[in-house]
Amino acid sequence: MKVCVYCASSVKVDKLYFDATETLALEFVKANMEVVYGGGAIGLMGKLADTILLNGGKIKGIMPRFMNEVEWAHKNVTDFEFTETMHERKAKFLEDIDGLVTLPGGSGTLEELLEAITLKRLGQFTKPIVILNTNGFYDPLREMLERCVREHFMHEKHLAMWSFVDRPEEVIEALVSAASWDESAINFATNK
Ligand code: AMP
Repeated sequence: MKVCVYCASSVKVDKLYFDATETLALEFVKANMEVVYGGGAIGLMGKLADTILLNGGKIKGIMPRFMNEVEWAHKNVTDFEFTETMHERKAKFLEDIDGLVTLPGGSGTLEELLEAITLKRLGQFTKPIVILNTNGFYDPLREMLERCVREHFMHEKHLAMWSFVDRPEEVIEALVSAASWDESAINFATNK
């Protein structure tokens, strides 16, 4: 199983977020899962990659060239793909994966997650999306998404596109048991 992980680049976040990232990375290694991520060396991205590499797991970085030029790429991640643009990178993140996991992060993580949700809504991305809600970090996003549905900006069926879990140990089970999704999702549009 191959998963893409979106997470923070910040080094300043509370230790509990680093601990959750480490636990999740160990779960991936234990389950022999392959991870694709943004290629960063610091923050939760760095913790994810360091833990996977230290424990013999598989990780691949996808990064736009301009980030590599300012030396943001993780030096020990050997499997790397460089793109010309951020857009191209985001498209590549979602290619050929079995699921997407989002950990706490800033605007970069949020926009990556929301793009994936939007593509899934249109039936262009059909894989499970699991949001790790460490420390209730994503409670406001969950409320926002549910409000979108409650106030009919989105369809009730869209609630099945994502799942929130509180603990890293629940992520793989959530990926495996996610509701199936396909191209017909484009028909759940709210403009009818
Ligand atoms: P954020 O959640 O805002 O920290 O965004 C994570 C995303 O930020 C990554 O996918 C990158 O697009 C970008 N990013 C910002 N700083 C770095 C860094 N030092 N190394 C790698 N990526 C970074």
